[in-house]
Amino acid sequence: MSTQDTEISGKESLSRLLDRLGRMARGLQYCHGLNPAQWDSLRFVAQANRFSRTPGALAAFLGTTKGTASQTLNALEKKGYLSRVPDPDDKRVRHIELTEKGAELLAEDPLNCLDQAIGRLPDDMVDTMKEGLERLCINMQSRCGGQDMGICTTCGHFQGPTDAGNMRCGYKQADLSCEDAKRFCINFEAAQTGDC
Ligand code: SF4
Repeated sequence: MSTQDTEISGKESLSRLLDRLGRMARGLQYCHGLNPAQWDSLRFVAQANRFSRTPGALAAFLGTTKGTASQTLNALEKKGYLSRVPDPDDKRVRHIELTEKGAELLAEDPLNCLDQAIGRLPDDMVDTMKEGLERLCINMQSRCGGQDMGICTTCGHFQGPTDAGNMRCGYKQADLSCEDAKRFCINFEAAQTGDC
């Protein structure tokens, strides 16, 4: 077998491993009466900022239709894991919030066992894997499409702290609390670094 053949088969086995891990992770998420899409939605609501906790943003994140995302949210709301609350600045807008019951369930996230398995790997291996997987995600996202997500401090729309101690979003022309500015945003656009 040539060096090139060995290299190709090595890359193929990595893609198969990723596929196998993905299937295992998916299989784990049929528990506590939820399915993988419902777990994904719970995690999204727990990690997204207030502009992003909407059915439309969830649909973009999951790569599904708004109707399908709404059905998932309705099921979670019916089970008491989520609730919809009016926006303090605009009563016509309703945001999705995690309930206490939802937060308790998330503490038992089936993917925690994957975190524990990762935690048993050496730190330098985790760093290398993380960097490689992030690059793969960016590459696949540019091929397959998908929503880029990030936080305020690395976003091109970020206008910095306000005198009142909040964070200013130029895209929404609105302020966010410091805590909310650390959460994922569906409107994120990576800031230009100036590198060529
Ligand atoms: S600054 Fe960027 S990441 Fe922050 S809320 Fe605005 S669009 Fe979202």
